[in-house]
Amino acid sequence: MGTDTLINLHSHTIYSDGDFTIEQLAAAAERSGVTHLAITDHFETSKVHCLRVNHFNDYLQEIEEARRRHPRVKLLAGVEIDTDPVRCDLETLPVEMLNQLNIVLFEYVDDNGSTLETLAPLLSQLTPLRGLAHMDIERIYAGKDPEAVAQRFGDFDMFVEVNTAWPYRRDGAPFYERAADYYRAFHGRVKVSVGADVHHSLAEVGNLVLPYRFIRRHGLERDLLF
Ligand SMILES: [Zn+2]
Repeated sequence: MGTDTLINLHSHTIYSDGDFTIEQLAAAAERSGVTHLAITDHFETSKVHCLRVNHFNDYLQEIEEARRRHPRVKLLAGVEIDTDPVRCDLETLPVEMLNQLNIVLFEYVDDNGSTLETLAPLLSQLTPLRGLAHMDIERIYAGKDPEAVAQRFGDFDMFVEVNTAWPYRRDGAPFYERAADYYRAFHGRVKVSVGADVHHSLAEVGNLVLPYRFIRRHGLERDLLF
């Protein structure tokens, strides 16, 4: 785990607001030596064009076909859930569908979306790996003890992303770099993921040098999900 893997667990396809097909992303992962790629299209939100329930089976089937064509890549089936209740009806999300996935990302948790406590009834029914996408941890938990934040994420069994996408930075520094004290507190308690949040460039699939440098610098290799 961590030393012989290269993971990218956040990507979007034409099923939501990405520009490429599942097959194109899987092929790009294989070319660039990515060992684990998660397809995580937006699901049932009014925020952007997204995967809807009626296309869910096609989505899973396409992921399965790409798995067969690219056996060197461990392809994970996932979605990203918008936790703003105005845009996504969290109470009617189809749990039995979500439980066919390998991974579920949650965005805007504790930050204009829902709190972890509000999500608890949904989380308690979910079996896939679940994690917090592109959080601005330093801002959201300003003044809070990193140890307490780590404890809370651990209690909810949530992993945390190192998300490298361009929007997720403040004053020129990526959110994850700003929150290094928190990531160090995650060591041994909260799993860490790497996600490029691929949308518009196939080069993003394997462009993972900076997040892996961060992970090594803070001794988090063994905290990676894979
Ligand atoms: Zn995303």
